[in-house]
Amino acid sequence: MVVLRSRFEIAESKRRIFTRDLYRCQYPGCRATGEGQIEVAHRIAQTSSNEKDIRQWLRDEIGTDWTLAMVRKKIIHHRLNMVTSCRRHNDYFNIGFNRLKMMELVRRIYDDVKEGL
Ligand SMILES: [Zn+2]
Repeated sequence: MVVLRSRFEIAESKRRIFTRDLYRCQYPGCRATGEGQIEVAHRIAQTSSNEKDIRQWLRDEIGTDWTLAMVRKKIIHHRLNMVTSCRRHNDYFNIGFNRLKMMELVRRIYDDVKEGL
C-alpha cells in the first residue's frame, strides 16, 4: 500500500513544526528566523536505507511488522523526527549516521504512536 500525503497535509505538518519551534532555527545560538530563512529538517532522513533499517529494528526489537510506508508515515514524518533549522545547520540535526541515537529516537517515537495503533 502506498501512503501518499497531500500537499495540504505536508503544509500543515510543516506549519505545526514551525509553530512548535517558534519559527526559529533550533541550533543553539542561531538567530535564523522566519520563512525563507528556515526549513523543516529530518533528524532521521527519508531514505530507503533508513526506512529498511528501522523496519528491521522494529521486527527485531519490538516484534512488530510494519510496511515501509508505515515506517515513513509514522516514524520519518513524526513531529519528534522533525526540527526547524536554517540551511547552514541542517546537518547538525541529522542523526542518521549514529545508529544508537537513531534507534533511541525510533523507540521514543514508537512509544508515542503505539497508543494510536
Ligand atoms: Zn541555524
